[in-house]
Amino acid sequence: MSTLRFKALEKSVNKQAEKIVIDKKLSQLFNENVFSYDTMREYLPKNAFKAIIASKEKGTKIPREFADQVASAMKDWAISKGATHFTHWFQPLTGTTAEKHDSFFRPTEDGRAIDTFEGTALVQQEPDASSFPNGGIRNTFEARGYTAWDPTSTAFIIGTTLFIPSVFISYTGETLDYKVPLLRALQSVDEAATEVAKYFDKNVTKVQSTLGWEQEYFLVDLHLYNSRPDLQMTGRTLVGHSPAKGQQLDDHYFGAIPMRVMSYMQDLEVESMKLGIPITTRHNEVAPNQFECAPMFEEANQAVDHNSLLMDLMGRIAKKHDFKVLLHEKPFAGVNGSGKHNNWSLSTDTGENLLSPGKNPKKNLQFLTFFVNTIKAVSEYGDMLRSAIAEAGNDHRLGANEAPPAIISIFIGSQLTNVLNELEKVTEGKLSAEEKTDLKLNVVGKIPEILLDNTDRNRTSPFAFTGNKFEIRAVGSSANCAETMTVINTIVAQQLKDFKEEVDALIENGLSKDEAIFNVLREYIKSSRNVLFEGDGYSDNWVEEAEVRGLNNYKTTPEALKLELDPKYIEVYEKTGVLSAREVEARNEIKLEKYSTKISIEANVLIDLVSSQIIPAAVNYQNVLVKNVKGLKDIFGDEFKDLAKDQMDLIRVISTHINSIKVANDQLIVAAKSAKEIEDHQAQAEAFGATVKPLFDEIRYHSDELEELIDNNLWPLTKYREMLFTR
Ligand code: ADP
Ligand code: MG
Repeated sequence: MSTLRFKALEKSVNKQAEKIVIDKKLSQLFNENVFSYDTMREYLPKNAFKAIIASKEKGTKIPREFADQVASAMKDWAISKGATHFTHWFQPLTGTTAEKHDSFFRPTEDGRAIDTFEGTALVQQEPDASSFPNGGIRNTFEARGYTAWDPTSTAFIIGTTLFIPSVFISYTGETLDYKVPLLRALQSVDEAATEVAKYFDKNVTKVQSTLGWEQEYFLVDLHLYNSRPDLQMTGRTLVGHSPAKGQQLDDHYFGAIPMRVMSYMQDLEVESMKLGIPITTRHNEVAPNQFECAPMFEEANQAVDHNSLLMDLMGRIAKKHDFKVLLHEKPFAGVNGSGKHNNWSLSTDTGENLLSPGKNPKKNLQFLTFFVNTIKAVSEYGDMLRSAIAEAGNDHRLGANEAPPAIISIFIGSQLTNVLNELEKVTEGKLSAEEKTDLKLNVVGKIPEILLDNTDRNRTSPFAFTGNKFEIRAVGSSANCAETMTVINTIVAQQLKDFKEEVDALIENGLSKDEAIFNVLREYIKSSRNVLFEGDGYSDNWVEEAEVRGLNNYKTTPEALKLELDPKYIEVYEKTGVLSAREVEARNEIKLEKYSTKISIEANVLIDLVSSQIIPAAVNYQNVLVKNVKGLKDIFGDEFKDLAKDQMDLIRVISTHINSIKVANDQLIVAAKSAKEIEDHQAQAEAFGATVKPLFDEIRYHSDELEELIDNNLWPLTKYREMLFTR
């Protein structure tokens, strides 16, 4: 009998929900552990506070002399909350967050000790960072990386440590994290969008990008998780038969939340509130034991930090509840995987959402301008979005009828489709007085403030307009939101710059501003038609139609990553100042390496699992059967042939599966070894995808068959039904 599995099951069944006592209203807990603007106002001298606000709002540098004041105020506040240490908290390209704690405590020469935190320590730290991925940029010999305070995101306390949001850069000035490109993209879109917004309102001086993410995840009992080496090592199950009761009944979705989970969610919400993450929704997701939470949207940089922090927090809090959070995109085969929707928009410092239709034709023309420019940007550079979401885990979902396909298209709904159809008919050049009135009254003027289509939003589209924002739906659940946010803001920034140039040129040639805008929008609509799609993104028809339309369908990560080096896309990064060619190449290399490493680890784990657990279990059971057949023969003589027929058939079937597994396992060992030897990163990733990965399915098929045949008591691995349905 497989003791680990059964002990784990017993522990999991006996586990009771943790009691969560919430003695304050969530609103009172909000920002309790954040060095928020309110707290800053209290702790900081006026000028230092103003400098922080200016840096947040205008992107200005904080003068050096204020750094000491801010550091000292942060320290006083943190110590008053029980903190003893501080850390720069950053987001290297490993995909997780990183921190290195230092104490405030310093001994003095006369044998006493003080608490100190100076501006220099706030502004810059040097983690021992040689093991973070750098794509060859930061050669350990030549230069090191350092972290630098990002004053546009708020500091916070977890436990007894003050966390200071930071960026991570090499001494040669290149980016080594997710945050620097994001900050540059946000600046770029701010500049470009402000210029365009000024066509409609001279008072606009800043445009910020907003992000509201929705995070899906699985919860599995910790003991059960620990009984599955594949989950532990790779984040997903490499074998496992689908339970008889999968998600067919759809009874989990929006069903009652189980007690243990409920108390976990409450705990998570309380801690999120204290850290200023404005979580507002929680519910069950489609798959059993799958859940989702989402906050109010925020300024994109802060929202990215909050999502990274939340993913971190989820894991910390789960421990207390004997849960393990699975953020992998596809922890269980045959059951829906997890994604992360990124709701994105742009808003002005005058309080307008630029992707929200307004009350009058002028506001609506502004809306249409940003709306059509976004469509045009995605039509030109959609491949960049595809690359941004490319990752080994996400390959299991995209195009598998549970998440949008790998084809990037845009859903806008029938009302806006009609509006674009009308706009496409606008006369070239100058417009007659009648046409102007008609456009005003019947096209632009008729865009309703609330778009009815929002309700029948098309869940199969990777990029959907949902009333007052675009929703990017193909992001992986474990991804750092920064990647997608960097791309969307970069391409829209580039697009808006081009738009401004074209409109200004027409105005120069004698057209009025509105005429010029209509003229350019008309051409954009024409040239972006191919990316607009309202139908079923899961259907085979769409795959065919997309091909006819010339849209790309890159199904695997290596294919999608190859696009990143296309000069057209590198040029966008360079022109917007978001990434240099060298940075793009380094990042591309890191991603390819990550993909290969993941598949390689999966191969090793599977090889081990098969040889040390699955085949031995099958042989054990076979021995039981053999003994049984021999016994029958002893007792019944020749009659045993009839009596033991089923057992003998079973012995044969088990042998066939064992043999097939052995053959595939040997092939896997060879394939993984030769892929590992390939030096070129692209070729290596392709080899892992094409020659290693397919063998996983082969092995899994036979293993899952065995799981069904073998005595439950002898099966070593915790089963899907146990992981997904015990609570
Ligand atoms: P759902 O997609 O789950 O049906 P909603 O459409 O109400 O839900 O909103 C989804 C998410 O969109 C929420 O997290 C919300 O914060 C976010 N959101 C709403 N408005 C904006 C905006 N202007 N910019 C960015 N995100 C937004
Ligand atoms: Mg959504």
